Amino acid sequence: MRITGYRSHGVAAAAALVNAVLGGDDSPDALRRILRDNGFFWREFRDADADELRHWGGTLHPFFTATSAEDAVTMLNGLMLRVPMHPHLSDHEPHGLHMHYAPPSSRLPDRFRATTLMNLAELVVEHGLGRTGVCAADDCHRVYADTSRAGRRRFCSEPCANRTNVAAFRARRRG
Ligand SMILES: [Zn+2]
Ligand SMILES: [Zn+2]
Repeated sequence: MRITGYRSHGVAAAAALVNAVLGGDDSPDALRRILRDNGFFWREFRDADADELRHWGGTLHPFFTATSAEDAVTMLNGLMLRVPMHPHLSDHEPHGLHMHYAPPSSRLPDRFRATTLMNLAELVVEHGLGRTGVCAADDCHRVYADTSRAGRRRFCSEPCANRTNVAAFRARRRG
């Protein structure tokens, strides 16, 4: 089973949404971009859906800050009881054959909730909390999700990785 990579587009989307509501840009256009960049049906997004997505970002935030897999599992299980699910297979671009988790003909926000939730659950089954977390840079509260094969990511973005590396280099030189 291929968990990381393009078949789990909900993982990167979840992290991007959490960062959007954590003081990033959570305007309808920014949310639309998150959907588009992660292979969701962004054309179905209506500005009126923005509040539902923002709320879902707040709901998923504790998953990324969880310090024990047990807490994360409890949280995901609780959400899986609340989010309507009706798994089925679908074959469409850009993903090819893949799982859909929400009931057929659900609204986009419902599909987004179901997919992000299930993709995070699959990630935890495969990697525990080893692929998600809070950015390791000082004073950064943004989150990351690593779906690469290597799985070494610890920062939310390149700028955070770079300034942390520069600071470490300077500290070494002083020492
Ligand atoms: Zn699909
Ligand atoms: Zn950061």
